[in-house]
Amino acid sequence: MLVDDQVPIEEFEGTEFPSPATVHMELRYVDRLLHIEGTVDADAKGVCDSCLDDVERHIHVDVDERLDPHSDRENDPFGESNVLAGNRLDLADLAQQLVLSDMPMGLRCSDECKGLCGICGANKNTGGCSCENDTENHGEPKMEDAAQ
Ligand SMILES: [Zn+2]
Ligand SMILES: [Zn+2]
Repeated sequence: MLVDDQVPIEEFEGTEFPSPATVHMELRYVDRLLHIEGTVDADAKGVCDSCLDDVERHIHVDVDERLDPHSDRENDPFGESNVLAGNRLDLADLAQQLVLSDMPMGLRCSDECKGLCGICGANKNTGGCSCENDTENHGEPKMEDAAQ
């Protein structure tokens, strides 16, 4: 069974998903287990943990899951198979779990984000403050003086 669907993802810890996730999946039964293979693509929108800038991030998940359709949500509410409600796959729930599991713990605008200046609060990515230069000019020479 092929699934091509658009699934809305709920907001999670300040991260919004303005448009529905695109789900392409192939579902088939192998050895009484439900094999799910495919991809989920979503666009997350949030705020950088370090500099509070707006961040948009594309989330792409490769899905390769094996679920046991015989343990459903009532038997095992916290198990991996809780996306299966009876024999019906809860696609929205599955997509949500997959997207969230692929989300970085803290959203950041980039790996090189310098964050905000601890002294004046300026965004250091835009180079908008001189506090750091002050430390470089006055801090390091003192260390050298002490060593001599
Ligand atoms: Zn940032
Ligand atoms: Zn500063």
